[in-house]
Amino acid sequence: MQLLYVRYLAACPVDEIQCVARTRRRQRCTSTLLSRGAPAGVWRLVPATAASGQLALPAAVMAVYDLSGVPYAEQLRWRAQRCLQHAAIPTAADLAVADWEPFEPLRHHEHIHNRLPARARRPGPTGRAHQAARP
Ligand SMILES: [Zn+2]
Repeated sequence: MQLLYVRYLAACPVDEIQCVARTRRRQRCTSTLLSRGAPAGVWRLVPATAASGQLALPAAVMAVYDLSGVPYAEQLRWRAQRCLQHAAIPTAADLAVADWEPFEPLRHHEHIHNRLPARARRPGPTGRAHQAARP
Protein backbone atom coordinates (compact mmCIF):
# COMPACT_ATOMS: atom_id res chain seq x y z
CA MET A 1 0.00 0.00 0.00
CA GLN A 2 1.24 3.46 -0.78
CA LEU A 3 0.17 6.47 1.23
CA LEU A 4 1.82 9.74 2.11
CA TYR A 5 4.63 8.84 -0.31
CA VAL A 6 5.60 5.80 1.72
CA ARG A 7 4.99 2.15 0.97
CA TYR A 8 3.63 0.13 3.81
CA LEU A 9 2.87 -3.48 4.38
CA ALA A 10 -0.52 -3.93 5.97
CA ALA A 11 -1.17 -6.73 8.41
CA CYS A 12 -4.11 -8.00 6.39
CA PRO A 13 -5.81 -7.53 3.01
CA VAL A 14 -6.77 -3.97 2.17
CA ASP A 15 -10.49 -4.50 2.56
CA GLU A 16 -10.04 -6.06 6.00
CA ILE A 17 -7.93 -3.37 7.64
CA GLN A 18 -9.79 -2.53 10.79
CA CYS A 19 -10.19 0.73 12.69
CA VAL A 20 -8.07 0.94 15.85
CA ALA A 21 -10.34 3.27 17.80
CA ARG A 22 -12.11 2.28 20.97
CA THR A 23 -15.88 2.38 20.95
CA ARG A 24 -18.04 3.65 23.79
CA ARG A 25 -18.47 0.03 24.81
CA ARG A 26 -14.73 -0.16 25.31
CA GLN A 27 -14.23 -2.54 22.46
CA ARG A 28 -12.25 -2.14 19.32
CA CYS A 29 -14.24 -0.64 16.50
CA THR A 30 -15.10 -3.28 13.93
CA SER A 31 -15.38 -0.90 10.98
CA THR A 32 -12.95 -1.22 8.13
CA LEU A 33 -11.02 1.69 6.69
CA LEU A 34 -12.28 0.94 3.22
CA SER A 35 -15.84 2.15 3.16
CA ARG A 36 -18.53 3.14 0.78
CA GLY A 37 -18.66 6.88 0.28
CA ALA A 38 -14.95 7.39 0.91
CA PRO A 39 -12.51 7.91 -1.93
CA ALA A 40 -10.77 4.66 -2.73
CA GLY A 41 -7.26 4.00 -3.85
CA VAL A 42 -6.33 2.22 -7.04
CA TRP A 43 -4.33 -0.93 -7.61
CA ARG A 44 -1.30 -0.18 -9.72
CA LEU A 45 1.75 -2.02 -10.88
CA VAL A 46 4.86 -0.16 -9.83
CA PRO A 47 8.58 -0.97 -9.98
CA ALA A 48 9.55 -3.03 -6.95
CA THR A 49 12.33 -0.70 -6.02
CA ALA A 50 13.30 0.00 -2.49
CA ALA A 51 13.84 3.24 -0.70
CA SER A 52 17.18 4.87 -1.33
CA GLY A 53 20.08 2.95 0.11
CA GLN A 54 18.42 -0.40 -0.29
CA LEU A 55 18.89 -2.92 -3.04
CA ALA A 56 16.35 -2.93 -5.80
CA LEU A 57 14.91 -6.03 -7.34
CA PRO A 58 15.80 -5.71 -11.02
CA ALA A 59 12.98 -5.63 -13.54
CA ALA A 60 10.38 -6.52 -10.99
CA VAL A 61 7.01 -4.92 -10.72
CA MET A 62 4.61 -5.26 -7.87
CA ALA A 63 0.97 -4.57 -7.19
CA VAL A 64 0.40 -1.66 -4.84
CA TYR A 65 -2.82 -0.28 -3.49
CA ASP A 66 -2.11 3.36 -4.17
CA LEU A 67 -3.81 6.06 -2.14
CA SER A 68 -1.70 8.89 -3.57
CA GLY A 69 -4.67 10.17 -5.55
CA VAL A 70 -7.04 10.60 -2.64
CA PRO A 71 -7.18 13.79 -0.54
CA TYR A 72 -4.44 14.31 2.01
CA ALA A 73 -6.87 14.07 4.93
CA GLU A 74 -7.97 10.68 3.68
CA GLN A 75 -4.40 9.46 3.55
CA LEU A 76 -3.93 10.66 7.11
CA ARG A 77 -7.02 8.72 8.08
CA TRP A 78 -5.58 5.55 6.59
CA ARG A 79 -2.24 6.15 8.25
CA ALA A 80 -3.96 6.62 11.61
CA GLN A 81 -6.00 3.51 10.80
CA ARG A 82 -9.36 4.95 11.64
CA CYS A 83 -12.75 4.45 10.05
CA LEU A 84 -14.71 7.40 8.70
CA GLN A 85 -16.68 7.72 11.90
CA HIS A 86 -13.68 7.73 14.23
CA ALA A 87 -11.63 9.96 11.99
CA ALA A 88 -14.25 12.58 12.82
CA ILE A 89 -13.81 12.02 16.56
CA PRO A 90 -10.14 12.66 17.28
CA THR A 91 -10.74 12.46 21.02
CA ALA A 92 -11.72 8.79 20.86
CA ALA A 93 -8.82 6.78 22.20
CA ASP A 94 -7.11 4.08 20.23
CA LEU A 95 -7.50 0.58 21.55
CA ALA A 96 -4.93 -0.92 19.25
CA VAL A 97 -1.88 0.53 17.58
CA ALA A 98 -1.83 1.03 13.86
CA ASP A 99 0.02 -1.93 12.47
CA TRP A 100 1.60 -0.51 9.35
CA GLU A 101 5.04 -1.77 8.64
CA PRO A 102 7.35 0.10 6.29
CA PHE A 103 7.59 -2.02 3.19
CA GLU A 104 10.98 -3.51 2.41
CA PRO A 105 11.12 -5.37 -0.91
CA LEU A 106 13.78 -7.82 0.16
CA ARG A 107 12.39 -8.68 3.55
CA HIS A 108 8.79 -8.75 2.38
CA HIS A 109 9.41 -10.37 -0.98
CA GLU A 110 6.66 -12.94 -0.43
CA HIS A 111 4.18 -10.08 -0.51
CA ILE A 112 5.31 -8.91 -3.92
CA HIS A 113 2.82 -9.86 -6.59
CA ASN A 114 3.46 -8.91 -10.17
CA ARG A 115 -0.22 -8.97 -11.10
CA LEU A 116 -3.07 -6.84 -9.96
CA PRO A 117 -5.45 -8.68 -7.65
CA ALA A 118 -8.41 -10.11 -9.53
CA ARG A 119 -10.74 -9.31 -6.68
CA ALA A 120 -9.65 -5.69 -6.40
CA ARG A 121 -13.16 -4.43 -7.07
CA ARG A 122 -14.91 -7.24 -5.25
CA PRO A 123 -14.24 -7.19 -1.50
CA GLY A 124 -15.01 -10.40 0.29
CA PRO A 125 -13.59 -13.12 2.52
CA THR A 126 -12.64 -15.45 -0.35
CA GLY A 127 -9.68 -15.59 -2.68
CA ARG A 128 -6.81 -14.25 -0.66
CA ALA A 129 -4.15 -14.30 -3.33
CA HIS A 130 -1.20 -14.07 -1.00
CA GLN A 131 -2.31 -17.12 0.93
CA ALA A 132 -3.16 -19.18 -2.10
CA ALA A 133 0.28 -18.50 -3.48
CA ARG A 134 2.00 -20.26 -0.61
CA PRO A 135 2.90 -23.92 -0.98
ZN1 LIG B 1 -13.86 3.19 13.98
